[in-house]
Amino acid sequence: MVIFDIDGVLADASARQHFLKGVRPDWNAFFERCHEDPLIEEAARLLHVIDGRYPIVLLTGRPISVMDLTISWLGRYQLRWDLLILRDYGDYAAARDFKARETARLREAGLVPVLAFEDDARNVEMFQANGIPCVYVHSGYY
Ligand SMILES: [Mg+2]
Repeated sequence: MVIFDIDGVLADASARQHFLKGVRPDWNAFFERCHEDPLIEEAARLLHVIDGRYPIVLLTGRPISVMDLTISWLGRYQLRWDLLILRDYGDYAAARDFKARETARLREAGLVPVLAFEDDARNVEMFQANGIPCVYVHSGYY
């Protein structure tokens, strides 16, 4: 499998970053507007050219409450994906811990991670520590 992060890798979330600034970050507003994000064209092209033998796993720290918005956004841009993993209700673990746990679960299920794409250096580090080559994508936020 090839693992992709969504925010900052496939979706340009820069217009939502202001919700997280200041003393009281508004995470609800931040996530509820995720369907307005522009597509990052290069990442869409990349998804398209990856050999079809590799399942595409979208592993995002977005909460499951925005699953429908996320699926319709993926559909709008006709993005290829096989598995979408979002954060469950009540899961407030650090993104790197959430992603490490979910990746371990996928491995137990027999999927072999060959490559990951991430814009958060902490997640890049986590994947690499787990033996998964990870391409760092610069977003300027995460
Ligand atoms: Mg990200």
